[in-house]
Amino acid sequence: MKPPRFEYDDPTTTEEALDLLAQHGEDAKVLAGGQSLVPLLNFRMARPDRLVDINGIEELSYIRHDNGTLRLGAMTRQAAVESSDTARQLCPLLVDALHWVGHAQIRNRGTVGGSVAHADPAAELPVVFSALGASFHVRSKTGPRTLSPEDFFQTHRTTSLEPSELLTEIEVPVLPAATRTAFVEFARRQGDFALGGAATVVSVDESGACRDVRIALLGAAPTPIRASDAEDAIRGRRLDEDAAREARVLTEAAITPTGDIHGSGDYRRGLIATMVYRSLLQAASNRGEAA
Ligand SMILES: Cc1cc2nc3c(=O)[nH]c(=O)nc-3n(C[C@H](O)[C@H](O)[C@H](O)COP(=O)(O)OP(=O)(O)OC[C@H]3O[C@@H](n4cnc5c(N)ncnc54)[C@H](O)[C@@H]3O)c2cc1C
Repeated sequence: MKPPRFEYDDPTTTEEALDLLAQHGEDAKVLAGGQSLVPLLNFRMARPDRLVDINGIEELSYIRHDNGTLRLGAMTRQAAVESSDTARQLCPLLVDALHWVGHAQIRNRGTVGGSVAHADPAAELPVVFSALGASFHVRSKTGPRTLSPEDFFQTHRTTSLEPSELLTEIEVPVLPAATRTAFVEFARRQGDFALGGAATVVSVDESGACRDVRIALLGAAPTPIRASDAEDAIRGRRLDEDAAREARVLTEAAITPTGDIHGSGDYRRGLIATMVYRSLLQAASNRGEAA
């Protein structure tokens, strides 16, 4: 299938893109890497009158270490983050998760901001940014906004972005030393969307007890959600086999994923709980993040 007819703009600055979105936002779609939007156009599941192609906006593509945060421009290609020494050093969890996103060809074009704005419940980056407590910077002609993942992701492929708004940057706090992280998922084949997964961030004190614990779940709900019962059970304890087992049981009791042709809700519930168990044990064996 071919996409329906559309008008096409290719701004080269953020301001120019914001002008276009202010004028045409209701009828337009932003085109980033096109890895999700172009198939939707071809299947005619999206029928915008206009595309605002932001690939020519160089100022939206960067990876910066700035005052205790890692800043990613929305147009930064997923492959650029995956191969970035800065990202690997400051945020290995992000790089680990990126290996699971589609195939290399998709990551060469797909952008970090596109993955966040697309808000697929089976996507890795929204889950990782939730676990990391990232902030999403958004701009329009009426001004900037900064949103937490909880405020940004509304439901399946729906965010709180207004039609006139552009996601411009993802800001990730650099984790303190001795923070352990792990990302695990299960997909039927390498490159497929995951059936379930978990991103875990755990800080451990001198006595070996867990302090800050964040476990974000992939595929458990229409948006990334946290396994809060499991987090509460682990806080203050050593991260060992018993703790991981209890977290698995609590997660399984807490979630109600929806089933589809790839797996029933019950299957996914057990799978995601197992991903939590594995991610905790993997985090326990990790050296910890560089500060
Ligand atoms: C075969 C295949 C397998 C894939 N497997 C995976 C996978 O396993 N995991 C995974 O996470 N993804 C997967 N993807 C999707 C891929 O990661 C996409 O790159 C990503 O979802 C969207 O990024 P994009 O830059 O291509 O955005 P686009 O496709 O250009 O845009 C996606 C949506 O986001 C909006 N948008 C994009 N950028 C902005 C912005 N800056 N501000 C406001 N709105 C914006 C667009 O308007 C559109 O609605 C796969 C894709 C394919 C084709």
